[in-house]
Amino acid sequence: MPGPAKTAIAYHEKYAQYDLGPGHPFRGDRFPRTWELLRERGLLDQPWLKVIKPEPASREDLLLVHDGRYVDLIFRLSEQSRPYDWETPCSPDILEALLLIIGGDLAVGDAVLAGDVEKGIGLGGGYHHAGRDYGGGFCLFNDVAILVEHLRRRHGLERIMIVDHDVHAGNGTSDIFYSDPGVLFISIHQDPRTIYPGTGFIHQIGSGPGRGYNINIPLPPGTGDESYMKVLEEVVAPLAREFKPQFIISNGGSDPHFMDMLGSLMITAKGFHSITSFITSLADELCGGRYVLLIGSGYNPSVLPLSWLALMMGAMRLPPEGLEEPRSPPEEPSRIRKEVEKVIKELKETLSPYWDCFKS
Ligand SMILES: [Zn+2]
Repeated sequence: MPGPAKTAIAYHEKYAQYDLGPGHPFRGDRFPRTWELLRERGLLDQPWLKVIKPEPASREDLLLVHDGRYVDLIFRLSEQSRPYDWETPCSPDILEALLLIIGGDLAVGDAVLAGDVEKGIGLGGGYHHAGRDYGGGFCLFNDVAILVEHLRRRHGLERIMIVDHDVHAGNGTSDIFYSDPGVLFISIHQDPRTIYPGTGFIHQIGSGPGRGYNINIPLPPGTGDESYMKVLEEVVAPLAREFKPQFIISNGGSDPHFMDMLGSLMITAKGFHSITSFITSLADELCGGRYVLLIGSGYNPSVLPLSWLALMMGAMRLPPEGLEEPRSPPEEPSRIRKEVEKVIKELKETLSPYWDCFKS
């Protein structure tokens, strides 16, 4: 196994302003607490880790994806500190932090493409519920999609793969690229019949020229590390090998953790490490290692920093050491394993007209 990957990470102390208020599950202390853990573990002193202090994203960056009138609306609501919806507040501080986070995502993407580093980490990124002209689910602007468009315009990339490993389906990202065959979008999430945003089903496979390029992998509540890895091996890897991405982006945080309050998947810190290690090895095999990881979600502050660290360590190609947790999740029942096998089988059948790897 090669050593640690040269990695760029974007961070700004103002990220903490992305705080949706007392009583809201999305609090700003997630960022400094994770940063402190990176410091404690000595990662910030490593010569292979480059810290980027980002500049804010511009209006032009937002317009790569979003409708102008929608961008104006969010700026106006932010100025007036009025919420977008009941769970998605806006304020000058939140907007300032968000623009810095998006600027950070773009900066690490550029660093990877410049060849300065192999991997990029956009701390605070992954606002996958925002579409071209709507927000929701704590998300205002879709930085995952903005990064994709930035990479295409600035660097001329034609095939980008997104793996969304948040517990919630990436409905905004899915909508944005629904008819776009240049983006292979794979969302692995808790069954949307049981969780926000209530969409992200197997049969939603894209439209027009993008048919077959929008992949939803809904997992039953209770799915643990083992079945999750099976999905990566049996569905994600063959699709990636056939698609041959020039760049891989993944997004998600700690909300699939077994102790998270908003989700019911049963992933452990070691499981998070396995997920991003797996994606890293795909990037190493398929696209010269080029991989950007965006980490933002997670609603149990007691497991968030360790889970985020685990995600980062997998991407950085570090071994899964020091990721022990105070307790383990319940064993995954065989009923869940069987249900996940059924999902995999149905996915392969649904996608077989579009992908040689699934033709029997
Ligand atoms: Zn989520």
